[in-house]
Amino acid sequence: MSGGDMAKPLLGHGGMEGDPSITPAAGRTIGVLGSGDFARSLAIRLVCSGFKVVVGSRNPKRKAGLFPSAAEVTFQAEAVKKTDVIFVAVFREHYSTLCDLADVLAGKILVDVSNNTEINHHKESNAEYLASLFPACTVVKGFNVVSAWTLQSGARDGNKQVLICSNNQEAKRTVAEIAQVMGFTPVDMGCMSSACEIENIPLRLLPAWKIPILLALGLFLCFFTYNLVRQVIHPYIREQKNKFYKIPVEVVNTTLPCVAYVMLSLVYLPGVLAACSQLYYGTKYRRFPDWLDQWLQHRKQIGLLSFFCAALHAVYSLCLPMRRSHRYQLIETAVKQAVEKKMNIWVEEEVWRMEIYISVGIIALGLLSLLAITSLPSIANSLNWREFSFVQSTLGFIALVISTLHTLTYGWSRAFDENQYKFYLPPTYTLTLLVPCTVILAKVIFNLPCIHQRLLRIRRGWEKGRYVKFVLPSATGEYSSGETSSNV
Ligand code: NAP
Repeated sequence: MSGGDMAKPLLGHGGMEGDPSITPAAGRTIGVLGSGDFARSLAIRLVCSGFKVVVGSRNPKRKAGLFPSAAEVTFQAEAVKKTDVIFVAVFREHYSTLCDLADVLAGKILVDVSNNTEINHHKESNAEYLASLFPACTVVKGFNVVSAWTLQSGARDGNKQVLICSNNQEAKRTVAEIAQVMGFTPVDMGCMSSACEIENIPLRLLPAWKIPILLALGLFLCFFTYNLVRQVIHPYIREQKNKFYKIPVEVVNTTLPCVAYVMLSLVYLPGVLAACSQLYYGTKYRRFPDWLDQWLQHRKQIGLLSFFCAALHAVYSLCLPMRRSHRYQLIETAVKQAVEKKMNIWVEEEVWRMEIYISVGIIALGLLSLLAITSLPSIANSLNWREFSFVQSTLGFIALVISTLHTLTYGWSRAFDENQYKFYLPPTYTLTLLVPCTVILAKVIFNLPCIHQRLLRIRRGWEKGRYVKFVLPSATGEYSSGETSSNV
C-alpha cells in the first residue's frame, strides 16, 4: 500500500458513523450490470439501503420480474447513462462483451465484484483486466468477499467486512461510503495491486486450520496404529484371538482421548518454549523462530480440535454399553461367575478408580467446553484482557492438570504390570503423558519465585546486559524499584 493511500482516511467524517440517511452516498443512483444471482441480491440490498438502482441487462424485459419494483431494469447502455457508479456483476470471461459500452462508461466508477474459480487463476487480477479493457474508467475492487446470500439476508447475518482497493482514492472512498450505508464495514486494502489477494480470499479453504488439522490427523494415525497393534494385532498373533470387532469403536475411542490430551498440551507447549527462549536470551525483543511464531498463532485452532476429540471421546464412551459385544461379554462374565459360584466380585479399588476417572473426565470436558466457547470471537470480544487470559491461560492449564489426573486414574498401575507391555510396547497412556507432564513441570518451574520474577521483568522490557530502570510489584503487592546492568 502506498504512503499516499494511507495518508487520507478511507471514509470522510461527513456523518458516516451516524444516521446513514445523512451520508452523501444514500439516495444516489447506483448502476448494476448483469441480472444474475449477485446482481439481484445487490439490487435488493441497495434499494433497502435507500439507493436508486438501475439494472443493465441484455434482456431487460425477461429479467425485470426478478428485481424489486423499485429498481429500474433496462438495457445496459441506458442503465450506464443514468449513473456514475456501476457494479459489474458479470463473470470475467464476459467482460469483453461490454466493450461496446466503452464510450458511455468513460469517466465512471466500475466496481469489480468478480471472483475466480482457482487461486491465482489468471496472470492479472480480474479488476486489473477490467481496468485494462476500460482505461477511461476508474475501477474499484470490492464486494467479492460478500456472497449473494449475505447481501440478501442483510449484513448482520453474514460477513460484515467488505475489502476494497483501487488506485483512485476518491473512487475508493465513494464505494466505501456505499458499503457503509448498506451496513457493511469497508476495509481499505490499498491500491489495485491488492486485487489479486482480495480475489483469492473467498477461495481459501480454512487457511488457519490446515496445520492444526494435519497435526490432529497425524497424531490420530500414530495413536490409532499403536492401539491397533496392542489391542487387535497382538491378541491375534499371540493367542489367535479375533478382536477385529474392536476397530470401529474401542480402538477409535482409545485413540481420541490420546489426541485430545496431547493436542491440549500442544496449546501450552509453545508458551513454555517462548518463555525458555526469553529466559535464555534475557530479552523479549528477540524474534521467535518462524515455526514457533506459527505454532503460537495456531493455538486456538489446536485447542478447538482438542475439544472436538474430547467431545467425540465422551460420546463414544457413553455408547460403549450399547454394543452387542459388550452385552455378550457381560452375560459371559455372569455365567462364569454362576458356574464358579462366585457371589461377590466387588473390587473396592477398581470401584474408586472408575468413580474418580469418570468424575475427573467430566470436569476436564466441562473446562474444555468453556475454553472453546470463550475462544469464539463474539464471546471473546465481550471479555476484557484479564478475563480472557484467566479463562484461556489459568483455566486452560487447570484443564490440562485435570486431564492428566483423568489419564493417570485410567492407567492406574498398568504401567507397572508387565502383561501390559504388548510386543514390548508400553501402555498408550504412558506415551500420552510425556508432553503434558513436561508442560506441567515447566509451568511449575516458571512459577518458582526466582524464575517468575525474572520472566516478569523480561516481559516488562528488561534486557540482559542493558542498563534499565525497572519498577515491579513484589509478591506482597508492593512495588520495588531498582537499576541493573547485570544478569540478575
Ligand atoms: P450469474 O447468475 O451467472 O449472472 C451473470 C450475469 O452476467 C447474467 O445474469 C447476465 O445478465 C450477465 N451477462 C452479461 N454479459 C454476459 C454474457 N456475455 N454472457 C453471459 N452473461 C452475461 O452470476 P452471479 O452469481 O450473479 O455472479 C456475477 C458476478 O458476481 C461474478 O463475477 C461472480 O464472481 C461475482 N460474485 C458472485 C457471488 C455470488 O454469491 N453469486 C459472490 C461474490 C461475487 P444479463 O443476461 O441480464 O445480461
